[in-house]
Amino acid sequence: MADATDRMISPQPRVEDQYVGAIRPKTLDEVIGQDKVRSNLKILIGAAKKRGEAMDHVLFYGPPGLGKTTLAHVLANEMEVSIKVTSGPAIERAGDLAAILSNLRAGDILFIDEIHRLGRVVEEILYPAMEDFALDIIIGKGPAARSIRLKLPKFTVVGATTRLALVTAPLRARFGALYRLDFYDISAVKKIVTRGARVLGVSADEAGIQEIATRARGTPRVALRLLRRVRDFAQVKADGCITGELTRSALDLLNVDTSGLDDVDRKVLSTIIEKYNGGPVGLNTIAASISEEPDTIMDVVEPYLLQLGFLDRTPQGRIATALAYQHLGLPYNDRVQPTLFEE
Ligand code: ADP
Repeated sequence: MADATDRMISPQPRVEDQYVGAIRPKTLDEVIGQDKVRSNLKILIGAAKKRGEAMDHVLFYGPPGLGKTTLAHVLANEMEVSIKVTSGPAIERAGDLAAILSNLRAGDILFIDEIHRLGRVVEEILYPAMEDFALDIIIGKGPAARSIRLKLPKFTVVGATTRLALVTAPLRARFGALYRLDFYDISAVKKIVTRGARVLGVSADEAGIQEIATRARGTPRVALRLLRRVRDFAQVKADGCITGELTRSALDLLNVDTSGLDDVDRKVLSTIIEKYNGGPVGLNTIAASISEEPDTIMDVVEPYLLQLGFLDRTPQGRIATALAYQHLGLPYNDRVQPTLFEE
């Protein structure tokens, strides 16, 4: 099975991405796009500062690579507090979370990535911590065991998830603010690439930036990765300047097409079209047909194909649209009665 993180356009972090640390915006004003979220956050920060208290708990959701982690760090920076970073799968036992919580100082931010993957027992420790700033711990064993309640300083949980539907209702209810991050439009991605090129010290012309932006799936992480790969090409094959022509040939060679789709995306579409007569077909069935993880299809492939209008979601499953046929160069015939393939 192809490892999803090996994909050039994977919005999941890859090892090479760590070198772009300097590209991370540090203040809300440096964050490009997501205007609505940014203005809401400004208000949240302003209000917290005015009250001299910790900010409300914030939950970011949306596909990977859109800036959830970045915003958490920006919030800490703007609030001038420390940030402790962890993730749902990293907190295995209730004791792990208790240790993290008891080390927080007033105002601190606790960033929990993939918060939908927290275990049930761990989550139950988090509820009173978020609501009453209290940590309930059990001392002793058996009949002599008793629970004592420790007071915690007021802190802020910033949660991030790619799957809001998997966040349990009681956990969701404890967040004062929920923000959905959307794919970036081309002009925002162009700004991100331009800024990235400046930080990396590489020259790129308008056509080059435009070409990278169009193929970046509206995702900053992908845009910055493509920028670095095209820069490598420019340094080896040309005089170092990123032009439209050079970007086209570099990205064609990397199998990232003009809409930003790679082999996996195209395989998903062609499977729906050729094997399932255009759908409807369930995501799990598609994943099994092409030996991919259902999670990858759900988090990475589907949101972008929906955004492009290549896929439609129906209660019976996913349908490939006329645009998808067109993109793959396949003839589209308006099917009178679609065949149903149930999960
Ligand atoms: P997520 O947590 O949603 O997976 P990240 O916050 O890790 O995404 O962002 C991925 C990359 O994209 C980071 O390198 C970050 O610097 C960059 N990035 C994300 N959002 C923006 C933005 N709005 N402006 C500029 N760069 C951004």
